Amino acid sequence: MTSPKPETNAVTRHLAQAVASCSREDAIDRVEAVIVDVPLRRQHFHASGTHAGQSLVIITVGTRSGAVGVGEGSTPAGTAFWGGECVETIKVIIDQYLAPAIIGLNVFAHETLLAAMDRAAAANHFAKAGVDCAIHDLVGRVLNVPIGLLYGGRVRDSLPVLWALATSELDADVEDARRMLDERRHRFFKIKIGKGDPRVEARRAIKTLEAIRAMSEDTLFSVDLNQAWDEPTSARLLPSLQDAGFDIIEQPVEAWNVAAMARLADRLDIPILSDESLWDYHDVFDAATRRSTDVYAVKVAKGGGIRRAYKAANVAEAAGIPLYGGMALESSLGTAAGLQLFSALSDLPWGCELIGPRLLGDDLTTEPTVYRDFEVMIPHGPGLGVTVDPDKVARWTRK
Ligand code: MN
Repeated sequence: MTSPKPETNAVTRHLAQAVASCSREDAIDRVEAVIVDVPLRRQHFHASGTHAGQSLVIITVGTRSGAVGVGEGSTPAGTAFWGGECVETIKVIIDQYLAPAIIGLNVFAHETLLAAMDRAAAANHFAKAGVDCAIHDLVGRVLNVPIGLLYGGRVRDSLPVLWALATSELDADVEDARRMLDERRHRFFKIKIGKGDPRVEARRAIKTLEAIRAMSEDTLFSVDLNQAWDEPTSARLLPSLQDAGFDIIEQPVEAWNVAAMARLADRLDIPILSDESLWDYHDVFDAATRRSTDVYAVKVAKGGGIRRAYKAANVAEAAGIPLYGGMALESSLGTAAGLQLFSALSDLPWGCELIGPRLLGDDLTTEPTVYRDFEVMIPHGPGLGVTVDPDKVARWTRK
């Protein structure tokens, strides 16, 4: 018996070439970062403020061979409130440190590129994530495969996606949810509360939930405090949210207070999700040892890119910590990066919150992200799976 002849396809051919040659042609020869300012369709409210626009950094990486990939660096609102980085720091860190560190290196040597960026700049997860996404896009395009395939292949074609109720008005939030249910877009809702008197905010959240559950029993509810409360306030008020029927509570206390997160997770029956407290895979390992979270919000941006977010997801999986697919208000480009990663995660019980494209007043890709039957579709194209529209980027580029 002879063994069957190995199949050669585009992927194996290109990979063999890349590994064998490490040719000069595969060297990165340009990294460009431009800031775009896109208006939101409506104001977005949360415990740290209200914003009407989303700023992003569009990052282009090219090689001597002429291959090009595009990624997105974003933070919520593009400002520094969430994690310290903002679009201005993302651009300057890329221009001054990350680009010089990786120019001349082989675009297929991903871990080497990440290490080079770490040597050039500590931290700066959002900036590194944007470059990581552009590199992934380039490699996927050269290999002619969607990025999910490089992480084991897709286990799903779509995933449930929640909607953020973020008008700060009870009636407006309920009306918003009614429309989402009628249009079969979302049935998992996240209420953003925390700005103002905690008891008033807790009551508003409960009334919103009751009004929406009266319309549909078939709904899930999350409440995101974005670090607004201290531990005693959380210990006093979170049980009332639990009793009212909320399904999950996100980041009630400040990011540094991991010990309080652990105690709250211990005393409440419903899951407590750490978002701001947990960034990359090292943090997830720490959370696993301390049992400081019931769920991990895996995100491309805070995780430091697709590759490191995948590692973080693996650490969580090993520790038995369920995953939730988070975001940083990305356009359809950054959203596609999240979708490629989430397409390959074996278990994603809490779905995702990739609603950036639904909030932005204009999109930056040629095809919009598709939302249907309470789910978001994972694109099939090579690389991140979407194509950037240069006219739209030019239109919103900061002058
Ligand atoms: Mn959050």
